[in-house]
Amino acid sequence: MQAPTLDRSPDTAETTRKLRVATASLSGCFGCHMSLLDIDARITELVKLVEFDRSPITDIKTCGPCDIGLVEGAVANSENVHVLRELRANCQILIALGACAVNGGLPAQRNHLDVGEMLEDVYRDIDEGLPCVPDDPELPLLLDRVRPVNEVVRVDYFIPGCPPSGDTLWKYLTDLIGGRMPRLDYDLFRYD
Ligand code: SF4
Repeated sequence: MQAPTLDRSPDTAETTRKLRVATASLSGCFGCHMSLLDIDARITELVKLVEFDRSPITDIKTCGPCDIGLVEGAVANSENVHVLRELRANCQILIALGACAVNGGLPAQRNHLDVGEMLEDVYRDIDEGLPCVPDDPELPLLLDRVRPVNEVVRVDYFIPGCPPSGDTLWKYLTDLIGGRMPRLDYDLFRYD
């Protein structure tokens, strides 16, 4: 199945309508969002073309209907699953952004450990040294394994890199916003 593009046909209101973009950081480090800000002064051009919906750079708490969703980070806990499904349900095009979202990245290094033993090793009572794992029901539960986003929802595009560069994101987004299939030259492609 071919990856979808946005309809930006000439002579329709679609060419002038501002697109809505949601972004989320699941179990990521916010480095991919920093790369988005690394487009530097081009951010002023971007905000002429798009409005941001739910995102760490807005104060919007839930995702409404959007054209593009960018997801940074792997899926490591129950809240990540909830946020990811919300973006998938509302975004026409969903992009896995960065190594963690694409293949689990560094957070997936914990996949060879037992999650219960790992928590008991990390959380210890300061006096007795006994396991003291937080159990407040407000806290999201860890999944047994860290997963890439496409193991939980359908993904339309993957942008590798830890993080992808600002230039890579700019090329990708301007292609999509222009109604084109994104194309990256070799020098914009990286996995590290
Ligand atoms: S891919 Fe790299 S930069 Fe992006 S969230 Fe993961 S660790 Fe951070």
